[in-house]
Amino acid sequence: MGQTAGRTSNTGLRLHRFEDLPDQLLEVAARELWQHLPGASLVEIAGRDPRPLFVSVLLHGNEDTGWTALQNVLRRYRQSGLPLARRMLLFVGNIAAAKENVRTLDTQSDYNRAWPGTRYPEAPEAAMMRELVEIVAAERPFASIDIHNNTGNNPHYACVNRLEESYLHLARLFSRTVVFFTRPVGVQSAAMARLCPAVTVECGLPGSDAAAAHAAEFVEAALALKAFPEHPVPDHDLDLLQTAVILRVPPDASFSYGGADADFRFIENLDRLNFSELPPGTLFGELGGNKDRRLAVVPGGEFEIEPDGYIAYDGGEIRLALGAIPAMLTRDPRAVRLDCLGYLMHRIDRTGRRIETP
Ligand SMILES: [Zn+2]
Repeated sequence: MGQTAGRTSNTGLRLHRFEDLPDQLLEVAARELWQHLPGASLVEIAGRDPRPLFVSVLLHGNEDTGWTALQNVLRRYRQSGLPLARRMLLFVGNIAAAKENVRTLDTQSDYNRAWPGTRYPEAPEAAMMRELVEIVAAERPFASIDIHNNTGNNPHYACVNRLEESYLHLARLFSRTVVFFTRPVGVQSAAMARLCPAVTVECGLPGSDAAAAHAAEFVEAALALKAFPEHPVPDHDLDLLQTAVILRVPPDASFSYGGADADFRFIENLDRLNFSELPPGTLFGELGGNKDRRLAVVPGGEFEIEPDGYIAYDGGEIRLALGAIPAMLTRDPRAVRLDCLGYLMHRIDRTGRRIETP
């Protein structure tokens, strides 16, 4: 399929480049991609408007919605016999992790923490992402989309790293719920936001046809967009939230859901709390063991915040001390260990100022 170039970074991880995607790949599941692609690959797909849409999928190997969505988009275009409305640069990321159906292999750095701005710039993955961003930057991208799934009960939502109108317009093509965040660092959308309007979209649990259809519609809408509208996204069209803090379980602490003794004994359906406006006092669980462990509460942005004020432990119970809206609270122990327990958010206005909710 016309491999064009590809160099091995001095650390040994190679970015493969291809022109076009053979029809055969449109039927291959994410888990089987390793049989067809040699590794992380940038695929160029021709389109009418030469300024490309950059799309990344499978930065996390077990999050297949992006790949399925792109298959849907390309299949539909091919059946129509028309070229894409806009050229596309498609990055198919962690094929090795997809083979094992895991987010990241133990031997790898997280493919969505390794982009410019990363805390691990010496990692081979970071060298590859730097090379990739250079290539994409030279093509003057029109916009960038990174497609993910998550492990808890969450609605579909878009995330941006800037509050500029074009970024919000792009996000709004996917959902009215838009989360503004500046941490974690090293993510695709933050790196691409320096070049063009960029979003991360979170499409709920993997493996859903409905989620893939929604992501496909979004990619098609972005491909069809000739320019970003001049007018602002109307306020009533947008639920804007900001990540206030990231909740982590200390690496040496134990945790459980709905029963077994552990340092943190979270309620059974912790992820059911996601995206609801929770009042102070909402129960997250109780302390077990010696009852002396505390969650790590890390500011989610560059602002003044008293992270310790968010969770209270009175009487050995783990409760929200302040009103907040959680996201990505997960019941998946691997996600807790590899990433975090979840996020706490607040509503903000267009200037980034927090809106107090009654
Ligand atoms: Zn992900």
